Parts: sequence; C-alpha cells; structure tokens
Amino acid sequence: MATLVINSGSSSVKFALFDTLSEACLASGIAECLGTENATGELIVPGEKNRPINLRKGATATDAMHAIVAALRLSPALKNVDVTALGHRVVHGGERFSGPELVTDEVISGIRDLCSLAPLHNAPNASGIEAAQAVFPKAPNIVVFDTAFYQTIAPKVYRYAVPENLYTDHAVRRYGFHGTSHQFVSTEAVKRLSLDLNNHRLLSAHLGNGCSATAIVNGKAVDTSMGITPLEGMVMGTRSGNVDPNLHGYIVDQTGMTLKEVTEMLNKVSGLLGLSGTSNDMRTLTAHHLNGDSRATLAIEVFCFRLARELAGLMVSLEGTPDALLFTGGIGENSRIVREITVKQLAAFGFALDLESNLSNGRDRGGVISPDGTSPAVLVVPTNEELAIARATKAILS
Ligand code: AMP
Repeated sequence: MATLVINSGSSSVKFALFDTLSEACLASGIAECLGTENATGELIVPGEKNRPINLRKGATATDAMHAIVAALRLSPALKNVDVTALGHRVVHGGERFSGPELVTDEVISGIRDLCSLAPLHNAPNASGIEAAQAVFPKAPNIVVFDTAFYQTIAPKVYRYAVPENLYTDHAVRRYGFHGTSHQFVSTEAVKRLSLDLNNHRLLSAHLGNGCSATAIVNGKAVDTSMGITPLEGMVMGTRSGNVDPNLHGYIVDQTGMTLKEVTEMLNKVSGLLGLSGTSNDMRTLTAHHLNGDSRATLAIEVFCFRLARELAGLMVSLEGTPDALLFTGGIGENSRIVREITVKQLAAFGFALDLESNLSNGRDRGGVISPDGTSPAVLVVPTNEELAIARATKAILS
C-alpha cells in the first residue's frame, strides 16, 4: 500500500511515493515543461538508476500522471506497489478550508472558487486532482492546503487596516503560506526538545526560494510573515518582501511601467536576485560574498536583517518567551552564515549560537545549534512537506 503525493503546478507535476505503513519514501520525481514541445520527466527510486518519464510533446497533467505510473511499473522494486491513496498540495484554501479534506466535487469547485486569490496555483492544483482521479479512479484523493495552518490566527493579526468591504466583499486579509512545512517542523521540534504539547511557544523560519516565518503557540499558528499573497514579509529569492505600499504607484509614475509589470518585478526579479544583480541562489551568493563581491554581501545582509526584524515582530504574537527558534528550508537547513548573522541580531532577546554545532547540524539530521542549556533554543529541523501530506492523507482516511 502506497500513498502518492502530488504537487501539480502550471507546467509541472512533482510527486513522491510513500509506503503507507513505514513512511519510507519509495520514489520521487518530476514531470516538467508540460504543455510544451520539451515535456520531460525523471523518476528517482532509491538504489536504482534514475529513469526518464516518457512524455509526448505538449503532454498534459493527465498524460504526465499516466506516464508517472508507467515509469513506476518499470521499477523492479515498485511493480507490485499499489497506490491506494493520493495526497495533493493545494496552495490557497482561503477561509473555507482549515484542514485537510477528502476530495469531492464541492471541494474541487471550492478550490477553483479561490483562483482569484492564487491564480497561478489553485487552477493547476485543481487540474492535477482531476488528472489523478482519471488515472486512479478507485483511490481516494485528499487535499492539504498551504494556508490551512493559519486559520487559527486572530482577526487583529490577519486584518489589514483598509476599508472593511475589501475584506467582506473581496476576501482581502492576511492568509499565510508554507503552513504544511511550519506545522511539520514545529511538531518535530516539540518532540526533539521534549516540550509540553500544551505549553510551548515557537518561532519557525522556512527559508527556501520562498521565505516565511510563523509564530506558534501550543501547536497552533498565531501569526505569519506572509499576507494575502506570498509577497509580504521577508526578503526571498526573487521576491522583495515588504515594501512601502506606495512603491507601486511611484514606480509606475517614474518609469511608465504598468501595475502588472511592477507586480511581476517585485515577485520575479527582486529579493536576493534584485539586490545582488547576479543570483537568487544562496549558494552562489555565499560563494560570491566569500570572494569579496560587495553586492552579494549586501544581499545576504539585507536578507538576514529583514528576517531578524520579522522574527522580533512575531514575538509580540507569542505573548511570552519563545522556547525555540527553528530554521528550515534549503537556506535554513544549509546556510550556516545566514543562521549566524540572523541569530547575532537577535542577541538582545536571548538567542545565541554554538558556532561548532551551527557548522555541523545541517540538512541531514538537523539539531540544536544554540549553546547547551540556553533558552530559547535554536534548532535546525529539516522539513519534509511531502511526508507531511502523506501523513495527513493517512490520518483523514483512517
Ligand atoms: P528550497 O526552496 O527549500 O529548495 O531552497 C532553495 C534555496 O536553498 C536556494 O536559495 C539555495 O541556494 C538554498 N540552498 C540549498 N543548499 C544550500 C547550501 N548548501 N548553502 C546555502 N544555501 C543553500
């Protein structure tokens, strides 16, 4: 029995296959460039050579799903594996979805109804579910929403100070994203630190291409750095994070760009990429910084400063002293420099690092990186959103 986790985007289907009982990852991969001449894909099975996923030109999500199954069947280890359930990542659940749900026609139309809030994500997410239903007609599908974890945050935290009708008529409020990751790593941290399930306070920093931070009290999100879209908050790979709300208008006036072009610029060519002028990739920027590139250094400094300031702000929502600060995501798990610069700026709040642990406790296992016995603790916790979705799928079905 296996659970297939699907993350269906506008031109790609990422997947991971888990043994439902042992939670072992049996396979993973991606079908990408869908809808184009160059549709291609790869299947990774631990212990086997990577296998191509054969896709015709212009392949759709449904074609991709068929091809993924065909590729799985070619693996000696997997040919008898039975996909008994599917778990889907869906980006926006709005105010309607506050947890994972079994897919029904109403759930799919609910996801489509929220397309105005996440046009680039919810439509392909819904199409991915329909493709899975076509290819696995007997298996139940479960949806897990990136926003659901934040449905516990209070109105004073999620409302913008704009006229009320924008909220009531147009759903304008802060939602928060990366919830699956923050929930997964915070649950893991509670276990690792033996914290009281009903009495803990955590700050969680998910730093990947997208970056967000979350304040968590007793397992529930109380605040997020992200807003109505994932642009709000800290500096990210290509996203600016917070800017003056008047910036859009100013840039339009100064440059003649359209509003749409400015939005595109703030999402696609800003952040680390915009500041450094060279890359959105923290590995590349770290190498450039170590070689004396002052723009790369500034990009890293702004990234860490804005992250530290965001974390300090989130502490207000904890209404008490944090037990721990967690780092996760590609940068959070791997960049000792980002962790070091960020934590240094939080020294006034009692955060400190053990430099040796910060060097050794990276992606593979994570671990505590603050000096023994200090509180709050600082921790690296590797995230695993696919496993979190597989677990949620199993929980709903049982
Ligand atoms: P994710 O979206 O979680 O896969 O994270 C992607 C980000 O993680 C990119 O900015 C990568 O540069 C960064 N990253 C991955 N490995 C490392 C590393 N060893 N050191 C610094 N950054 C890394």
